[in-house]
Amino acid sequence: MTDELEGGTAILVLRGDGIVRHANAAAEALFARPLSSLIGRNFGLPLARRSRVRILGTSGPAEADLILRSGSWGDQPALLVSLRPVEAIPEATPIEPDRAAEERYMLVARAANDGFWDWDLNSETVHYSPRWKMLLGYGEEEIGATISEWFERVHGEDIERLRAAIGAYLGSDDPHFEHEYRMLHKSGTYRWVLCRGLAVRDEGGKAIRLAGSATDITQRRLAEEQLAHRAFYDPLTNLPNRGLFLDRLRHAVRREKRNPNYLFAVLFLDVDRFKRINDSLGHTVGDRMLVLVARRLELSLRPGDTVARLGGDEFTILLDDIHTVSDATHVADRIQDELAKPFQLTGHEVVTSASIGIALSAAGYDKPEDIVRDADTAMYRAKALGKARHALFDTGMHEQEVRLLKLEADLRRAIERDELLVHYQPIIALVSGRIVAVEALVRWKHPERGLVSPGEFIPLAEETGLIIPIGEFVMREACLQLRAWQLSMPGETDLAVSVNLSTRQFVLPDLVSRVEAVLSESDLDPRLLLLEITESVLMEKPEAVRNMLAQLRRIGVRISIDDFGTGYSSLAYLQRFPIDNLKIDRSFVSPLGEHGENSEIARTIVNIGHNLGMTVIAEGVETATQLAQVRELECEGAQGHLFSHPIDSEMTAELIAAGRSW
Ligand code: C2E
Ligand code: MG
Ligand code: MG
Repeated sequence: MTDELEGGTAILVLRGDGIVRHANAAAEALFARPLSSLIGRNFGLPLARRSRVRILGTSGPAEADLILRSGSWGDQPALLVSLRPVEAIPEATPIEPDRAAEERYMLVARAANDGFWDWDLNSETVHYSPRWKMLLGYGEEEIGATISEWFERVHGEDIERLRAAIGAYLGSDDPHFEHEYRMLHKSGTYRWVLCRGLAVRDEGGKAIRLAGSATDITQRRLAEEQLAHRAFYDPLTNLPNRGLFLDRLRHAVRREKRNPNYLFAVLFLDVDRFKRINDSLGHTVGDRMLVLVARRLELSLRPGDTVARLGGDEFTILLDDIHTVSDATHVADRIQDELAKPFQLTGHEVVTSASIGIALSAAGYDKPEDIVRDADTAMYRAKALGKARHALFDTGMHEQEVRLLKLEADLRRAIERDELLVHYQPIIALVSGRIVAVEALVRWKHPERGLVSPGEFIPLAEETGLIIPIGEFVMREACLQLRAWQLSMPGETDLAVSVNLSTRQFVLPDLVSRVEAVLSESDLDPRLLLLEITESVLMEKPEAVRNMLAQLRRIGVRISIDDFGTGYSSLAYLQRFPIDNLKIDRSFVSPLGEHGENSEIARTIVNIGHNLGMTVIAEGVETATQLAQVRELECEGAQGHLFSHPIDSEMTAELIAAGRSW
């Protein structure tokens, strides 16, 4: 293979006008002239693509087969002439291998950015084509001819690899040498080059010469690096993405398997209330915030740790090589401190916090995804515990999470399969002692678990949004039921029904029309529908809340505040909103003593309610004493086990029809 270039085919690169620009070693031998005297000579333009020509070399005339092709030299068009001395072809040698070499040479020469080099391994000198020097920013005379000068320009990180590759190639019988490395450009930057070459060997097989091409592949390498970057980094924050994070985590897991003393932790972080910032200040500001959060997270970590953005406002952190759990919790605290410093966001000052879940490698994970999942579960726990805190994962959480997932799946089906039903609990007017209203309370007839109470699924339904169809089902069911009772019990024209409304429902922009639709469908007088909202609803944007309440009142329905006293709203808050009834939470009712003990707060609530023109209803009345006390406090209404537990619609109808009074 070595003499494909050497003894076999001479190659000349000609300018369009026939002047020789470059020649290979075989051409030097054929013409018996050194390269320096070949370059610049006028070869003359061959007339045919293939012809047999006479060469007048210094050692006498010779015949050669000439093949002409067009190609390029550097960035200029060029003609490539290959000459195969006629007598140099041994009878038995097939013609194909030579052509292959020719072809290869052609390809090399055609590439726009190629330079050529020819290294004499004995003298340690090297010849470069002008183009090769130009690739590195040097003129014709600027680079010396020793190989060491060449190696000096190779990037420090690549030099060992390059030497090893050359050594391996020369010692092998691999026909082609190919290697990519960086070389110093005159400007001080590095260029990526692809070197391809062939060794020329003596009879003993020892390589004496290595020659080939050099291509500037800097653009390609940069593009590849950018693509790799895009594949592994989040474009917004420039942090590693999920893929790279899992990759690093995989290494940590492997390391932990080898070395049981090695401990690492994964933190799963979710920015608290980010959605609100994003919604109120806009996505651009939200994005800016995420970038700033990313920088602060980096500040809170040591150099060996990895922080990644999984997407949205979720970040993960790999704490490498920690000693104890408290190393991880300290980092979590440090992150909270960083996030608590105000963020300046184009005219807005925002402080934030994060919910952080922590999972430790000590639990013995095999898959990186599993540890991320557990950190995520712990993060949910931290959120549920009130945000701005961290929680450590324990296996109990996992079971609970699985249970919740199953519950959610079941709940979705429950709606489709009509497993939900409504029970009713009477509300008594204390003046008459008679039932004036019933509260609709949802129940879930679970196929395996029997009757499930709302406390077990309402929070989940609120989180998942399922509360919207559930709430609407209850409202429709309750209104239809009340209308049916009116028709079957003609005396009961004033009985009202009270329906609980979740915050998620209350903020629906079309809530009013949804309520109107249910009222007209059930043909119910709007005055007989009471909507119960909790104090937390009042904590939403006050203007929007007032507006919504006013609209609801305009269509004729009445509004009750449920569980009053357990939320955050102050009594002063109440006067801002058009509200009809106040339901005092049972935590104020149950401690009421026979002699008026523990009645101060309840009394204050009742008084203020009355001053604001509201009707007050006591919840959770269980005993005759409590009933006497709420009468004493002049509550208008009462509800509780003393009168009745929530019961199904048939029993409720019987109770109403019985006309009992307390
Ligand atoms: P709530 O609206 O305050 O309903 C009163 C709750 O107190 C009911 O619990 C009722 O069974 C219970 N209760 C009534 N009297 C007494 C008593 O004397 N002593 C005691 N210890 N408890 C009493 P339930 O039915 O389990 O409902 C719990 C909560 O679930 C409700 O509290 C309400 O916030 C929510 N909920 C129920 N149904 C719905 C619904 O359709 N939509 C929405 N959004 N929430 C609902
Ligand atoms: Mg209620
Ligand atoms: Mg209540």
